[in-house]
Amino acid sequence: MEWEAVIGLEIHVQLTCCQSKLFSGAATAYGAPANSQASPVDLALPGVLPVLNREPVEAAIKLGLAIDAQIDQRSIFARKNYFYPDLPKGYQISQFEQPIVYQGHIDITLTNGEHKRIGVTRAHLEEDAGKSDHNGFGDQTGIDLNRSGTPLLEIVSEPDLRSAAQAVAYLKKIHSLVRYLEISDGNMQEGSFRCDANVSVRPRGQQELGTRTECKNINSFRFVEKAINHEIARQIELIEDGGRVVQETRLYDSDRDETRSMRSKEEAFDYRYFPDPDLLPVVINDQWITDVAATLPELPEAKIARLIAELSIKPEDAEQLASSRELANYFEASVAAFGEQPQTTANWITGELLGRLNKASITISQCSVSPEQLAGLVTQIANNTISGKIGKEVFAGMWDGDGDALEIIEARGLKQITDSSELEALVAQVISDNPDQVAEFRGGKEKILGFFVGQIMKQTRGKANPGKINNMLREKLAAYPTP
Ligand code: ADP
Ligand code: MG
Repeated sequence: MEWEAVIGLEIHVQLTCCQSKLFSGAATAYGAPANSQASPVDLALPGVLPVLNREPVEAAIKLGLAIDAQIDQRSIFARKNYFYPDLPKGYQISQFEQPIVYQGHIDITLTNGEHKRIGVTRAHLEEDAGKSDHNGFGDQTGIDLNRSGTPLLEIVSEPDLRSAAQAVAYLKKIHSLVRYLEISDGNMQEGSFRCDANVSVRPRGQQELGTRTECKNINSFRFVEKAINHEIARQIELIEDGGRVVQETRLYDSDRDETRSMRSKEEAFDYRYFPDPDLLPVVINDQWITDVAATLPELPEAKIARLIAELSIKPEDAEQLASSRELANYFEASVAAFGEQPQTTANWITGELLGRLNKASITISQCSVSPEQLAGLVTQIANNTISGKIGKEVFAGMWDGDGDALEIIEARGLKQITDSSELEALVAQVISDNPDQVAEFRGGKEKILGFFVGQIMKQTRGKANPGKINNMLREKLAAYPTP
């Protein structure tokens, strides 16, 4: 039996762009002393009333526009009732029947390079709950209500994803998008971007969906992939052994790489949603949408298309460069500084630069090499002052703060040898030093050419122009008398 996985994601995005909470004036900064950012509204003191702030609504409109969604011009807030110690009101204000954003979509790129459209069912505003702190208070639990009332945008996908890899690609797209839109910092460690993964399996070809389970609150791309793969395998094994998947909420344990049941459908909360009588409907007029649309930056898809069409960047590189606004800005600043060979600049960024950033676990904004410095390096390679290989050494020097490319090239004597007579002498020398290899070459072993090039590179510490010596070697070896 061939199985097909079906996945839908619910993503909780904390709208870190907002100065204050969804319904109160308290600040939302991360890491403040416990309960220092909780107003009477967040504490749910008697007699207080929530008042909707404008910023979170604008953030939702931005996302809606960016995913080509419908924006509901009259949406309502609802109470989602449940008891939890860090939820003093006894309900969370969310949206149920009329979310602000619905019916959008986003395209992901599959591993084979094809694109796939993923539907976004809805995106609604809701407030976050507080936090319980079970550590550091002996047998008591501390309650911190700083997070209470923080604005969240919950983005719910259609069950259109078919593998863990597709789910991660989708998640990364949304992550990149909220950062482009500057509605969230997307910080997964701090919980500003987390996801619930709904997973089911069905025999391939079957229309009807299988029973799903939901893994809650996963906060890294790697864990999302692992949790989904684990869950797919668990469900298939269960069914093949004659069992049945039960609809339930599961917890992904990254230490053990497994999912565990938290609660089944029977134990699921009945939230008893109803419209919040304390809040008026949100009315969004056309003018407001137009005004917000005018503030949108160039979005990833448009940027990718432009990099490919105008700068002839390879599609996979364009996608990587456009994955964050900062990286794309870096690339464009570097290309502007040199003015030629954008693909070469792209290669240096996707290869050497991102490799080093990854290794050092830092982001492009913390990179010690400026876009102009990188342009300086690409210029020196383009005009043959140095080879690409020496370029790596120069790049390392710039990374370590030793100066600009030209300064490093001069200080370390790295200029490429392009002088023909000097190169010819080197070629003649390597030929007379290695009669055995010359015989092999003349016997038809073309590959031995690399050996000669290698010898010369070794002698010159990589400074000989490889193209030139290759040509000279071929010429000389052809003319060389048979021993
Ligand atoms: P709930 O809030 O009860 O979890 P929602 O309807 O808000 O339910 O969303 C559930 C998520 O699960 C959506 O992303 C949806 O695409 C996905 N989903 C629904 N049914 C299935 C299924 N059978 N298999 C996988 N995913 C599913
Ligand atoms: Mg859910």
